[in-house]
Amino acid sequence: MTEKKSTLIETPREKYDFVPDEKICYDVIIIGTGIVGWSAAMYTGRLGLKTLIIGEMPGGTITQTHVVENYPGFISLSGPELAQKVENHARDYDIDILLGKVEKIEKNKSNLFVVLTKKQKFNSKTIIYATGSKWKKLGVPGEKELENKGVSYCALCDGPLYKGKEVAMVGGSDSAVKESLLLSEYANKVYIIYRGEKVHPEPINLKRMEEKVEQGKIEVINNTNITEIKGSDGFVSSVVLDKPFEGKTELSLYGVFVAIGHIPLSDLAKEIGVKINAKGEIIIDRKAQTNVPGFYASGDVADTSFKQAITGVGEGVAAAYNAYEYVNKGNYVMPTNSEMNENKKITPLIRTKTKSKTAKKK
Ligand SMILES: Cc1cc2nc3c(=O)[nH]c(=O)nc-3n(C[C@H](O)[C@H](O)[C@H](O)COP(=O)(O)OP(=O)(O)OC[C@H]3O[C@@H](n4cnc5c(N)ncnc54)[C@H](O)[C@@H]3O)c2cc1C
Repeated sequence: MTEKKSTLIETPREKYDFVPDEKICYDVIIIGTGIVGWSAAMYTGRLGLKTLIIGEMPGGTITQTHVVENYPGFISLSGPELAQKVENHARDYDIDILLGKVEKIEKNKSNLFVVLTKKQKFNSKTIIYATGSKWKKLGVPGEKELENKGVSYCALCDGPLYKGKEVAMVGGSDSAVKESLLLSEYANKVYIIYRGEKVHPEPINLKRMEEKVEQGKIEVINNTNITEIKGSDGFVSSVVLDKPFEGKTELSLYGVFVAIGHIPLSDLAKEIGVKINAKGEIIIDRKAQTNVPGFYASGDVADTSFKQAITGVGEGVAAAYNAYEYVNKGNYVMPTNSEMNENKKITPLIRTKTKSKTAKKK
């Protein structure tokens, strides 16, 4: 019989204990430590490109989901488990890692990219931009004031706080329904409030949701918007609806979870002339190339319609291979010594120590 739930939890590899080098020119700097960034790093490390990966949140968005059942090779595992596996795989190669925020990207006279954090400055021949996205907010009165006081964007993180209580999930996507299924394991009742005609999860999750509806654990309120979130004693106490539900426009509950989509984090790319579409997504081709030579983008920040871990990983790998080709074609001019010396001396930070056992054999 096939084991349904993976019990294998990989232990994190050795943590961040090297120093990224400001004085060298990296072949590639990957911005973003989500599943896409780590997958790209695994490939660039494997291809022997001098790689630096910089990111704020190790694992990224996938760590916020309790179950992933559509990543090939794993029938079922949690988002954090999957992220850790991919990170460990990348760390098996000789890559440099920096936990931090990229503040700016520039291009210098030698056609190199200059990546700036608050205190540091790194040069690279290519960029793989995998910054993902941030949650869209509802934008209604009470949402901001009651954030983390009943308003949440992550069922996996906050669901257990609502044991035996009533909560709402706003949204109709597969993610919204999946999050509702998780919430229904804790909450007494989950109201899915959706502005459209009908929620649209994957068929398997629709079936699971319908079972929960039959059990009275989930109730779907379609064609309805929340217009206000109200609080009492500083915590969520109810939501106001734009249409009556069971004769009332106010619904009492303890928590409001919001899953109405994402806003791509493309600003830094846009600033150096990378083209984005009307949704703010970076326009890429099948090679994950943007309009700026040497600048690749992949994952949730890119303009691909199906935003899943595996599709983003595929784009990240395409970006890695094409960055490799770009570097090998020498589409850049090596920086002069004075350009490299412009870099400030920095406080030591982090870099991987472990070299791949596989790589060592080669
Ligand atoms: C609730 C939920 C459930 C989901 N379930 C599934 C599922 O079952 N299966 C599936 O395939 N997909 C699922 N997805 C989608 C999947 O999580 C995403 O498609 C995928 O994680 C995107 O990865 P990414 O690396 O592109 O972006 P992210 O994971 O968002 O990573 C972006 C990274 O960039 C970093 N970053 C951003 N800006 C900067 C900066 N300026 N400087 C440095 N670092 C920066 C962030 O900190 C983060 O580390 C789900 C999504 C959600 C929200």
